[in-house]
Amino acid sequence: MIDLSADEMAQKLRAGETTSVALTRLHLDRIAAVDGDVHAFLYVDTEGALAQAAAVDAKREAGEKLSPLAGVPLALKDVMVQKGVPTTAGSKILEGWRPPYDSTIVTNLKNNGIVILGKTNMDEFAMGSSTENSAYGPTHNPWDLTRIPGGSGGGSSAALAAFEAPLAIGTDTGGSIRQPAAVTGTVGVKPTYGGVSRFGLIAFSSSLDQAGPCARTVLDAALLHEAIAGHDPKDSTSINAPVPHVVAAAKSGDVKGMKIGVVKELNGDGYQRGVRTRFEESLELLAAAGAEIVEVSAPNFEYALAAYYLIAPSECSSNLARFDAMRYGVRVGDVDGASAESVMNLTREVGFGREVKRRIILGTYALSSGYYDAYYGSAQKVRTLITQDFNRAFEKCDVMVSPTCPTTAFKIGEKSNDPIAMYLNDIATIPVNMAGIGGMSLPSGLAPEDGLPVGFQIMAPAMADERMYVVGAALESALLTKWGAPLLSKIPALAGK
Ligand code: GLN
Repeated sequence: MIDLSADEMAQKLRAGETTSVALTRLHLDRIAAVDGDVHAFLYVDTEGALAQAAAVDAKREAGEKLSPLAGVPLALKDVMVQKGVPTTAGSKILEGWRPPYDSTIVTNLKNNGIVILGKTNMDEFAMGSSTENSAYGPTHNPWDLTRIPGGSGGGSSAALAAFEAPLAIGTDTGGSIRQPAAVTGTVGVKPTYGGVSRFGLIAFSSSLDQAGPCARTVLDAALLHEAIAGHDPKDSTSINAPVPHVVAAAKSGDVKGMKIGVVKELNGDGYQRGVRTRFEESLELLAAAGAEIVEVSAPNFEYALAAYYLIAPSECSSNLARFDAMRYGVRVGDVDGASAESVMNLTREVGFGREVKRRIILGTYALSSGYYDAYYGSAQKVRTLITQDFNRAFEKCDVMVSPTCPTTAFKIGEKSNDPIAMYLNDIATIPVNMAGIGGMSLPSGLAPEDGLPVGFQIMAPAMADERMYVVGAALESALLTKWGAPLLSKIPALAGK
């Protein structure tokens, strides 16, 4: 049962072949069996999940009309606040904090009867590409437990790949949904900026942060996308437009006549051989399905990484100022006669990890008077150039594609002392966030040289998220025919569990 897709689980629930309580128990048992090895979860909400599941079962019993995913369990990235449930964003500074309210995503999940199993591990405040920056220890990639599951949302993707949950929520500021999806052989979608509410998403870089669906199939991602998306007056950057019909798009998967633009700058030198092999093969499959493959150029993508590492730290230095030892979580040095300033200093010293401190310092410097125009201002100009590159390219194609990451999953510890090497992992995902458009990663096979999953990235213009699902579904179905079984059925590490 646990290796079915969320859609198949939902069908079984509708047909009365199982109950949400039974399905939830199976996943809780699976978590108990494998999470000691994987460490995808920071908190498992056994009681809360079973109570939610029982409530959905009772409604079904009473003949109430339920939404498509009602009763299916989900893993929630620990950056989303959930009322009464410990929420840390992977940081020591929030240890023990129980939010007094639900994020809009959580409200939407609950309204859809989706059962929240618990909170997943992540890089502290979503800063990282490997989940090694979590204050609570790393998550292990279910394909090879000595390797990283990607980041910052490594817990969510690892939970999917280890069959601990069929659905998960991620957030993507520079790739944190797509890169973990790529290196774990799962599907992750960053919707158009503003498509899913940020209310109750602990902010990292507000102009880039976007929550989205993580799943094992394109259709499951679409079902979850429609469940969580929509206008929210509590988020001033939320788009006031109807939710895109991504489920219909995922069911169609008809790419005949579509133009697929291969980004010249995101393929070639610096990309692992097996990553390129799988990418080329996916292009051939899409061409065989009736799409036209064209080449597009985005010359300013070269500057995306540098600009991102000014904008994201700048915004984070402002957002993280709220962790002042007065309002949330941990407080250190609060002894008689201690000044507020010394309590704040001591708390931040202990509460923030190395990468978070590095970025706060970088951002504060970039925003300081005299440097603002040279750094932050220039980075914002680069952002406009990147958007213009996308606009020009989308005149020639319907979607743009690239490998999601330059390499497959690296070893835990391999890059943790080299921030630049770590940052380079996001070279192909960051442009999407800079322009606020949509991006999807889905598995395109295993790299022949190391047997690890490779991600295929699809980028669509803002407010045209449907296109990613059409192309994603087409590729997924062509690959399934080729493989004969889903990629995740080949996962070796947890065999026997
Ligand atoms: N890896 C990138 C970073 O460290 C992106 C993180 C994210 O998308 N949250 O900032």
